[in-house]
Amino acid sequence: MAQPQSWEKRAEEYSFYGFTDLPSVHQRGTVVVTHGEGPYIFDTNGKRYLDANSGLWNMVAGFDHQGLIEAAKAQYDRFPGYHAFFGRMSDQTVMLSEKLIEVSPFERGKVFYTNSGSEANDTMVKMLWFLGGSEGQPQKRKILTRWNSYHGVTAVSASMTGKPYNEVFGLPLDGFIHVGSPHYWRFGEEGETEEQFTARLARELEEVITREGADTIAGFFAEPVIGAGGVIPPSKGYFQAIQKVLKKHGIPLIADEVICGFGRTGNTWGCQTYDFIPDAIISSKNLTAGMFPMGAVILGPELADRLDAAVEAIEEFPHGFTASGHPVGSAIALKAIDVVMNEGLADNVKRLAPRMEQGLREIMERSNHIGELRGVGYMWALEACLDPATKTPFDGDLSVSERIANTCTDMGLICRPLGQSIVLCPPFVLTEPQMDEMFDKLEQALNKVF
Ligand code: PLP
Repeated sequence: MAQPQSWEKRAEEYSFYGFTDLPSVHQRGTVVVTHGEGPYIFDTNGKRYLDANSGLWNMVAGFDHQGLIEAAKAQYDRFPGYHAFFGRMSDQTVMLSEKLIEVSPFERGKVFYTNSGSEANDTMVKMLWFLGGSEGQPQKRKILTRWNSYHGVTAVSASMTGKPYNEVFGLPLDGFIHVGSPHYWRFGEEGETEEQFTARLARELEEVITREGADTIAGFFAEPVIGAGGVIPPSKGYFQAIQKVLKKHGIPLIADEVICGFGRTGNTWGCQTYDFIPDAIISSKNLTAGMFPMGAVILGPELADRLDAAVEAIEEFPHGFTASGHPVGSAIALKAIDVVMNEGLADNVKRLAPRMEQGLREIMERSNHIGELRGVGYMWALEACLDPATKTPFDGDLSVSERIANTCTDMGLICRPLGQSIVLCPPFVLTEPQMDEMFDKLEQALNKVF
């Protein structure tokens, strides 16, 4: 008689995996997850894992927040689905747009909804292209982003992403231009201070703008802290220096706050943590505390006015997704904003971030193979190095960070290998004892691998 197949086998046989190291999965199997409690998830064998990855940065209120689940249930009972087009829109979506403008750094503005962060970046690019065309500058199409940034996976947002792996798709598309990443520890030159490094990046940005022609550039997109590129906070004064250059050339600055928004850096927005006001904000993930797929483009006053004027002329903006402004997503987002901002979750991040930094710093100091600790709020990375003094990376088939993450998984801690870094971005509900559990397991894993 045929044996029933294991969950792991069924997962591998019928699912086509993305963003997964396949040799590792073939060897180790898939963790098939059934449920969660607070910051923990459980697999089909009943094993518990502390998910210091917050799912994918997004499950900020943990995996079973009752207030959010109740908000979803109530809205499913009341009105389970609708769009936001043809002159119709759910009441929840109206309220969410008001709330998003109220909590944004803008005194006024407008919101457009998508299902994901990738689509929100795509939408913003299309808005900029549309503006160029309507304002008599159809050549204004080039998009500037940074090397090592992450903006998503659609053809446009993957072209914005500054990672070499998109070459397998023949990306980036023409007109997507990458400039330097503000990672001082890695890219600062011998004898260069952090301030000089920032000034060099601003100079290099201006050189690119001059080379390409300012009148061909539609916008500059940046994550306040680069997330999936390995948690890279900006070098000192970075956003002030580049915003000065962008303003001089009339190029909008778009903050991709998909990870940083709603508390991850300890404030509502990453741009508040780094003290700049962008022209628009891209939001997703934390927007619904990961409990509904939703993204938003939040336009500041100038872009909102220009887009309004451009649309008036042709009477319709021909763009949108079936589930744009979904009422259940909107209801969950309204509740999530309240939970994160008013029920102490963002405060928890602010209060415990120094403890997290201190604990990780002590781990780094006790290890011979960590070159840099970097981060802010509840997003941190430890960079593994063969020789921290010379910043020499490890080499080998399976990256050392992958081996550390696999060892952590075996011990019941989920963390993410990104390049040579180990990334820790726990849910905002993480308590002090749970943080200690994270430190203990991480250090044991480092000791096993090094
Ligand atoms: N932008 C940033 C900064 C992200 O980190 C991500 C996802 O990790 C995205 C955009 C894409 O979002 P999504 O995966 O929802 O398409």
